[in-house]
Amino acid sequence: MPLQRGHIRAAVSVPERSWFIFSLGHVQRQSQQIAVEGCCHGELDAIYSHVNHLENRHNYKVDALLICGDFQAMRNKEDVGNMACPTKYKVLGGFHRYYTGQKKAPMLTIVIGGNHEASNYMWELYHGGWLAPNIYFLGHAGCIQLNGIRIAGISGIYNENHYNLGNYERLPLDPRTMRSIYHTREYNINRLSLLSPPSIFLSHDWPQGIEQYGDTDGLLKKSPHFQHDIQDNTLGSPPLLHLMKTLKPEWWFSGHMHVKFEATYPHEKSTTKFLALDKCLKGREFLEVIQFPVASCPVPNPKPKLTLSYDPEWLAITRVSNPYLSRRKIQWPFPGADDARQRVARELEWVTAAFPKPEDLEVERVQQFVKTVYGPTGKGWARQVSREDGNPQTVAFCEALEIENRIRD
Ligand code: 5GP
Ligand code: MN
Repeated sequence: MPLQRGHIRAAVSVPERSWFIFSLGHVQRQSQQIAVEGCCHGELDAIYSHVNHLENRHNYKVDALLICGDFQAMRNKEDVGNMACPTKYKVLGGFHRYYTGQKKAPMLTIVIGGNHEASNYMWELYHGGWLAPNIYFLGHAGCIQLNGIRIAGISGIYNENHYNLGNYERLPLDPRTMRSIYHTREYNINRLSLLSPPSIFLSHDWPQGIEQYGDTDGLLKKSPHFQHDIQDNTLGSPPLLHLMKTLKPEWWFSGHMHVKFEATYPHEKSTTKFLALDKCLKGREFLEVIQFPVASCPVPNPKPKLTLSYDPEWLAITRVSNPYLSRRKIQWPFPGADDARQRVARELEWVTAAFPKPEDLEVERVQQFVKTVYGPTGKGWARQVSREDGNPQTVAFCEALEIENRIRD
């Protein structure tokens, strides 16, 4: 699908706290260009080609791409069967070529899950991992660092029927569990609420009521079917609003509603800039490029290498919360906020001792991409790694953190 002539523009906003370095008498900005995309729906080729088009047109290089769910990491027929959606949309899509190595993602791509996913595959990588070379899934909830930029996120969408339950679903998924598995759980909201403010937060659905903090009338003109929900204040996810108030991230990116919408949410001392983007279709506003300052002060030249690292605070939170990850319907209570924060502070000492140097936190040191099933051709539904052994990336993550692997079925 050629997108080069679409009406999509690159909005480059320069955050106020960009810093400058002085070298050889001229001013040089150190920054990273991060592209953000709404819903992917298997259109990786079209998205990468559009980013490439913007790079050529504006003469910059995009360092990383963030995708806000409905990614559809289908590797073969079995994965297609694990995606909840109407039959007419049950198609393989283009991801499998990136999985088998026929194609290589041209830039580091970081994704969360939505409500149309190869949910069996995303389950295997509950704590996050490489879906394909250069394509990293943040997990059902997660936080990582990209050269010091903290990116946190949650997968799935809100549904009150499953919100308070454990992660009881087992593989193979059936038509019911295929739909409940992507409903966000309070357990993950509780974990994420323990983070200190990230630069970026990614969610598939929107925080409830965010439409009130931008051009609501303009939104209604583009999407009149939201009228009823907006009147009732039921558009979006209630726990995500709570999370936005607690975390106060600088940026919040979402997808799911299939419309571009910008808002500014006020906190007492700062604001969160909210940006939702459309799905990848010709003529739709599905992608923006935003310039971020790099956090640390590297040597002036050349540009620092792009490094994806674990966030030490998230690793500490994972160590505290893992025993509460329920694999049954019943979800036992999470520790109170004060107690949990004290425990996270203690576990942060463990993390600092276990990962003493910054390079120890590099994701590649612990998790490398591993194929667990065959692609669409040849061996049918056969697995290369048995389900009982679990995904080697999840095994490696749990071993590095010295936590029980509760993701195994
Ligand atoms: P999906 O691609 O996930 O199946 O569905 C997204 C579609 O559902 C979009 O067209 C979006 O506008 C619509 N949608 C998602 N959440 C809501 C909601 O809470 N209220 C309304 N009225 N529409 C929604
Ligand atoms: Mn969706």
